[in-house]
This record gives sequence, C-alpha cells and structure tokens, in this order.
Amino acid sequence: MEAKRVIPFLLCLLTLSCCTPKKGAVVVEQPNVSVPAFDADSAYDYVSAQVAFGPRVTGSEAHKVCGDWLVAKLKSFGAEVTEQTADLKAYNGDRLPMRNIIGSYNTATNKRVVLCSHWDSRPWADNDPDVKNHRTPIDGANDGASGVGVLMEIARQLQRQQPTIGVDIIFFDAEDYGMHSDELDYADNSWCLGSQYWARHPHKADYMARFGILLDMVGAPGARFCQERYSRRYAGSIVDKVWQTAHTLGFGSYFPLTAGNYVTDDHLPLNEKGRIPTIDIIPYDDAYGFGEHWHTVKDNMEWIDRATLRAAGQTVLHVIYNEK
Ligand SMILES: [Zn+2]
Repeated sequence: MEAKRVIPFLLCLLTLSCCTPKKGAVVVEQPNVSVPAFDADSAYDYVSAQVAFGPRVTGSEAHKVCGDWLVAKLKSFGAEVTEQTADLKAYNGDRLPMRNIIGSYNTATNKRVVLCSHWDSRPWADNDPDVKNHRTPIDGANDGASGVGVLMEIARQLQRQQPTIGVDIIFFDAEDYGMHSDELDYADNSWCLGSQYWARHPHKADYMARFGILLDMVGAPGARFCQERYSRRYAGSIVDKVWQTAHTLGFGSYFPLTAGNYVTDDHLPLNEKGRIPTIDIIPYDDAYGFGEHWHTVKDNMEWIDRATLRAAGQTVLHVIYNEK
C-alpha cells in the first residue's frame, strides 16, 4: 500500500469536523452473545509459520508452498475454500500468477461480511535505509503475514462457534508488487492487483456483503490504527462501529479516535468497484508513516507483538458475533 500526502493541518481541521468519530456512537452489544476469546499465541504462530516459508513473492516457490498451507489450514478449520487464479502483469512487465484464496463460513445465508488481508510479501525492500537492500525481498512479517495470522485465528474460532451471519475470509494476492511512489509515472493501480481482480470477478456471481474489514500490518508493538480517510469516506458507520467496539473492549490506545491519511490499499477496489463498504485497519499517521520497518529488511518477527494481534483480532471477533 502507498499513502497520499495531504495538506495536513488545514485539511485536518476541515475534515476532522466531518470525520471525527461521533462520540457516543452506540455499539449494539447483543445481549447474551458470547464472543470467543481470541488466542494471540495461536495467531502469532500463524504469522511465524508464514515467515518461515520465506518471502511470499507472487510467483515464487515460497509463495506456492505458503498458498498450499493456507488452503489446507482453512479447510482444516471447516471453511468452504475457493481459489481464484489468473495470469496478471505487473507494472514492470513481470508475469504474476495471481492466487486469491477465499474461506467461507455459513454459506447458506446472504447476510455476509468480508474479512480480508493480503498474503503476498513485497519483492523489494525499497524503503530500506541501506540502498544495497533495495532489491532484496522482505519477510513481510507485519506487512502481509500479520493480517493473515489474525484472520487464521478468527477462522479457527468460527469453526468452533458459528456466528449468525456468513463470513468470507479473503486472502488477496499481488497487493505489494506496486511502483515505489518516487517512480516518475507512478500509478496507484499498480498495487492491489488481486483485490482489483476479485472486485471485477467476485468468487460468487452477484456476490454482495454488508461490509468488509481489511487488516493490513496489524502486528507491530504499540500500533496506532488511526481512522484511514477512504474508510471514513466510504464506510464511516463501520469505522464508528469498529472503533467504538475497540474502546468498549479496552483497546482504545490501539484505535485512537483520530483521522489518519488516505491509503491506497485492498479496500479501495471493494469500495469503488465491488460497492462493498469496506474499512482498512492499518497503522498510519503523519508522524510515523507505516513504521520504520515498512518495506525494509527489518520487517521480521521482531516486529510482531501478541498484544497488538489480540487488540485487532478480539475487536473484529466482537463485531462479527454481534452482527445479526
Ligand atoms: Zn507493503
């Protein structure tokens, strides 16, 4: 994903007035709904397992083996698994054998929610302070594996206790093969190729969902998931629901009630093409950007904190089980 620079303060003032989370926006806690406890150790192990395969660059051997593991794991958690494959071309002409992986629960109902994350990792550490690393693939522990790890643990819980609604867990491919923003002819749509493909060709004809939640980089210690601006624009009530749920659960420090930035990420094709109001849980703000480890060779397991995985995972579980 890539972030757009905006005129911070003035625009903040303007937008803050319209996009500050509405104090007291009510979270509808369904009475007597027991929500499973998210196991952060288990989520951590799923993150570590992905990293152990090596960089999951689309088209690489590690990508193939990790993809097979994701499919087998989802099946073992009782999901109905669909794989979407296509031969795509990256902005630099590289051939990309794309593989989107979908795990569906409670397929009988059309009251559905999408939970998604990208599972590929970036082929270049092009944000590394040492330019010698700029052609080195990253481990993508936080950028890729963390979101998948949280969703894998959620899948495990969905098998153990079925929610009322239907859930589609989507692992998008080829999110992180885009152009660096310094490139002269920079193009936003060079990123998120798997979600762009899915939004044009959903895994089920005429597929529709109530809303979607994208998780991207949800593992770093002390992460601050400011409210991403496209999420506010396209799905403000879902942002309020999720942020208020997090505050109710005591995860307010991870989900500050402050506006972040506009981030080009997999939620955009779902909103703009798929017409599914989708938010992005991603740590970004003007001070720290995506974090010093972003798109560097340092994005490894040292940057994965169980407390952050829990804050994101338990919050999403609560939203899912309280949805009727
Ligand atoms: Zn990335």
